[in-house]
Amino acid sequence: MAQLFSGRSASGSLASARMTDVPAHPDTAAMQQALVEASTAAAHGDVPVGAVVVIDGRVVASAHNERQRSNDPTAHAEILALRDAAHRVGSWRLTTATLVVTLEPCPMCAGALVAARVRRLVYGADDPKAGACGSLYNICADPRLNHELEVTPGVLAEQSSVLLREFFAERRSGSDGGGEDR
Ligand SMILES: [Zn+2]
Repeated sequence: MAQLFSGRSASGSLASARMTDVPAHPDTAAMQQALVEASTAAAHGDVPVGAVVVIDGRVVASAHNERQRSNDPTAHAEILALRDAAHRVGSWRLTTATLVVTLEPCPMCAGALVAARVRRLVYGADDPKAGACGSLYNICADPRLNHELEVTPGVLAEQSSVLLREFFAERRSGSDGGGEDR
């Protein structure tokens, strides 16, 4: 897949719909929920990333990044949402699930998607610094691994980017001057 940039919106979802043969609208609706989750992360100082898991057209789990709040390096939105979905379904195997996340997953989360046998990944903004679903690596579509996912990038990417930019701009203007990693 060609390198894609953050900030595509209307044309991006049309292209995605053609690629995956899935109507853009359900992805967009799920992404709206993921964006709401993302915005709540900033309230406790966490980088605003949100994720939801959709099975049979229903959101079965939603979570946001809690690394800072929980002092847990693995508490990314995707991991928390996958855990919650697996508990709810009663199986670690999420073969009919779609994970919808506002930012391109990192290597850890992309690995978790493969481990959970998730069917599809829908994400918003590309992450050129840590993205493992096309930017730096392509863990979701590597034939050497035992599972591959359909990937639809760029859904409501601009909204996701705006949240992240505002968060980092605010943090830079604060006293701690933290870095830009998630
Ligand atoms: Zn991650």
